[in-house]
Amino acid sequence: MKKNKKITWDYSPAPESAAHINLKKKYVLYIDGKWVKPSSGKYFKTINPANNETLAEIAYANEKDVDKAIKAARKAYDTVWSKTTPSERAKYIYRIARLMQERAREFAVIETLDAGKVIRESRDIDIPLACNHFFYYAGWADKLEYAFPNRKVEPVGVAGQITPWNFPLLMAAWKIAPALATGNTVVLKPAETTPLTALKLAEIIHDAGLPPGVVNIVTGYGDTGAAIVEHDDVDKIAFTGSTRVGKIIQKTIAGTDKKATLELGGKSANIILEDAPLDQAVEGIVNGIFFNQGHVCCAGSRLFIQESVAEKVIDKLKHRLNSLIIGDPMDKNTDIGAVNSKMQLDSINKYIKIGLEEGATMYQPECTLPKNGYYCPPTLFTDVAQSSTIVQEEIFGPVLTIQTFRTVDEAIQKANNTPYGLAAGIWTDKGSRIFNLATKLNAGVIWANTYNKFDPTSPFGGFKESGFGREGGLHGLSAYVKLK
Ligand code: NAD
Repeated sequence: MKKNKKITWDYSPAPESAAHINLKKKYVLYIDGKWVKPSSGKYFKTINPANNETLAEIAYANEKDVDKAIKAARKAYDTVWSKTTPSERAKYIYRIARLMQERAREFAVIETLDAGKVIRESRDIDIPLACNHFFYYAGWADKLEYAFPNRKVEPVGVAGQITPWNFPLLMAAWKIAPALATGNTVVLKPAETTPLTALKLAEIIHDAGLPPGVVNIVTGYGDTGAAIVEHDDVDKIAFTGSTRVGKIIQKTIAGTDKKATLELGGKSANIILEDAPLDQAVEGIVNGIFFNQGHVCCAGSRLFIQESVAEKVIDKLKHRLNSLIIGDPMDKNTDIGAVNSKMQLDSINKYIKIGLEEGATMYQPECTLPKNGYYCPPTLFTDVAQSSTIVQEEIFGPVLTIQTFRTVDEAIQKANNTPYGLAAGIWTDKGSRIFNLATKLNAGVIWANTYNKFDPTSPFGGFKESGFGREGGLHGLSAYVKLK
């Protein structure tokens, strides 16, 4: 194998400005259309993982606050929102989308500061997609009889929604937009390390004139989320996060009539056949796992390459890794930004250590990481087995395991040999091979000759330990309605 050298050249810095954003020093809870202090009097800090500086203090909601938010949501549901006509609901949702679009630049910068993801992604993917979800579901609000022909469609009631830190605003949009379109009210808890854009969304919801209590945002840690799940007056739980917490939630709501969707972890396979366009496939591999520092539930974290082209693909991949720019997420040239938190970086490093201890061969490009903040270089592991810990467990970082296969059947068998079933990628020149693989892979989303492409019209969700239920598209409406 050829030795790879660093092949980047120096770009002039191109930092996005943060001068235009409006961030408060302290954020309280958004309940019943008002900003209210947490009854515990407690606050926690949210930091910028790129430099470890504090961005703001955030209210820590306890059971009492959650109860207050759920009561407000119930009152708003009974007295206002369930009586609001579908076309009026649509107008509010359109207004939220338009206001978000107008403030897109501010949202993108805040997302990057709070999450560590590169500004190019926040600006070009997270925020536009979040706006598009509101636009898309605004369109459905007064057409539900066409979404569910010959059925009587009723809202579920009060939805408790809990989101993770990897796509903070987008995950909130995936949940709030279909809930409102179908006539439900909402209590949403964003992740503790990335609460800011959900709080900015509360400002927009307020400015859009949504009736008080229709959307409530409570911030806090896992116990705040648990208080939502355990509350008797919540009709539906929409959770996106780890399989570990998903299982706790499933146990908690067992025996109740709460509806649930669980969007959980993944360990997705990206499969390169020998007839694939290899240069494009390499871009797809890079996008599949190194996009958003590998903090993507559907990341193509297990690479399977057909043996005849394996050496060539690995060589090209190493060459490409050497041209990636790692560093300040606010710089428009940066390809890989910061890991979201110290805890996440420790967890990624723990898996890298396990990989080495289990005998795998590691490759990382030469790169200088910033001194402050949390960073991990893109990492490849070869010489791994199906049973290797790093092949079986979700790492949620920029770490890719590489295996080879001889026949398509072997690739399918290996790809399906995981507790998860969220996504998969197929790279080949032949449509027939795409159809063959796509019908045999156990994954909720399958991309062909591309990876990590999202659209509000497409449903997203997994099989097995990746959870159940779908968000996005027409399917995303079903989770929020009772059909009679
Ligand atoms: P996490 O499960 O630790 O936390 C997710 C959310 O749940 C946070 O808001 C957290 O405060 C809350 N929470 C924690 N304990 C809780 C409890 N006992 N009851 C209720 N809420 C609780 O996950 P994370 O680390 O924030 O996110 C990473 C995980 O999310 C990864 O496993 C990733 O694959 C998954 N994810 C899945 C999808 C998908 O669509 N399938 C999308 C994004 C992320």
